Amino acid sequence: MNDVVIVGGGIAGLAAAWELRQRGIHPLVLEQRHRTGGVILTEHIDGFVVDGGPDAFLIQKPAAIELCHQLGIGHRLVPTLLPRTAFVLRGGRLIPLPEASFLGLPTRVGPFVSTHLFSWMGKLRMGAEVILPRRRGDDDESIGSFMRRRFGDEAVAYLAEPLLAGIHAGDVDQLSVNSLFPRLVELERTRGSVLRGLFANQTPRSPQGAFMSLPGGVGELPAALTAALGDDVVRCGATVTEISGSGPYKITLATDAPVVARAVIVSTPAWSAATALRSVDTTLAALCAQIPYASSATVAFGLRRQQVQHPLQGTGFVVPKRERRSLMAATWVSSKWPHRAPDGHVLLRGFLGGASDPSLLDQSDEQLTDTTVAELSSLLSISGQPLFTRVFRWPRATPQYHVGHGQRVRDIDERLRSLTRLYLTGSGYRGTGIPDCIADARATAAKAAAALR
Ligand SMILES: Cc1cc2nc3c(=O)[nH]c(=O)nc-3n(C[C@H](O)[C@H](O)[C@H](O)COP(=O)(O)OP(=O)(O)OC[C@H]3O[C@@H](n4cnc5c(N)ncnc54)[C@H](O)[C@@H]3O)c2cc1C
Repeated sequence: MNDVVIVGGGIAGLAAAWELRQRGIHPLVLEQRHRTGGVILTEHIDGFVVDGGPDAFLIQKPAAIELCHQLGIGHRLVPTLLPRTAFVLRGGRLIPLPEASFLGLPTRVGPFVSTHLFSWMGKLRMGAEVILPRRRGDDDESIGSFMRRRFGDEAVAYLAEPLLAGIHAGDVDQLSVNSLFPRLVELERTRGSVLRGLFANQTPRSPQGAFMSLPGGVGELPAALTAALGDDVVRCGATVTEISGSGPYKITLATDAPVVARAVIVSTPAWSAATALRSVDTTLAALCAQIPYASSATVAFGLRRQQVQHPLQGTGFVVPKRERRSLMAATWVSSKWPHRAPDGHVLLRGFLGGASDPSLLDQSDEQLTDTTVAELSSLLSISGQPLFTRVFRWPRATPQYHVGHGQRVRDIDERLRSLTRLYLTGSGYRGTGIPDCIADARATAAKAAAALR
């Protein structure tokens, strides 16, 4: 009999296991793949450090950085390189996001007035936000509806869609603003205007910028966690097919003998949790199954510096749908982070797919690579062939917090309260970024530990 079995060895499952170990409980993590980390994956290719999934920890939410310090790798954290300018593609040109902005929205007048990202009409419409009445009622709303109502169509096309929805590879008119950007909703509610709230709450910019990473790639974090937990805690190649019982639980595996546990924490994507939990509670399983997921791919490639004419002074760019390209975004990895490419070389990475392009993963690696290299070559004036290319596929990996997500998670939590020592964590429910996943997993593990006592 195990005290706690954790299903899934992504960052959420590993962080839950770490928290339990801090509390003197010896968990067992069951991970279907032959490696831990889930969508966090770093590869080292000919001197290049290539993150296939996430590449950054948001500093404002400290859970990931705190965990790095607890694991003894905190001293390795590095901020993004300067300049930290991000660009937006408009009319085939890369235009810098105005300086002094929060999620692309202006926090000072000067840079907003002088930007070429918006037309004069677009700027006037956005500026009019300060005098618009606040919305009555607190129903959930899509990011698109919120931004269109407050800032107009141009702000949706060149900010909300590529940037706010783009981070989540989602549809701007379906993703919930309340679940994903509650600060914007809060500013409208409390200040009557988002811009007035942003102008009033000027906080000095951190010299470190907004993000951190690790020189060996974000994969250093799950690697350190897995090593600290040890082989007797983490079992790879263990696919959970069914969880049954009502506490203790029997956990059935695809290839090994079942295991039994007094408590279970499921940290897989919600669709996988739905399959595993059918025997425990059909309503809970149905609620999990309702959370949609988007698929995406990243394509990384290395070049000699002289092959790229563009100065690459910034972190990369996002691509609005109106631009009619296949790329959703691209990162100039070696300009964004130190130590990612050998001297005299650059590393680039393109993002494709998302909710608006669900059939993308039907394409071969060669097609995905050709599209990415061709589009980046024309935008950045690249000549010659890449030194290497690498495609990372992320099928059904990005949860879509659609309008109503908050209520669905409240329903899930209510259902969980009626079950004995069964918990759900991971990116599908209460936050999608790595820090959110870590914080929620640790809080969930603390609850499990308390229940076991
Ligand atoms: C391309 C991409 C870029 C991103 N960029 C960033 C970024 O820069 N910064 C950031 O903060 N966040 C980023 N994110 C989001 C963040 O990385 C994820 O939300 C987070 O890592 C998810 O962790 P998780 O443990 O919840 O899920 P996962 O990483 O999906 O882990 C779940 C694990 O469960 C396992 N599993 C599934 N079913 C079973 C089963 N039946 N039995 C056993 N095991 C099972 C899977 O194999 C997997 O290892 C990005 C996400 C993607 C896809």
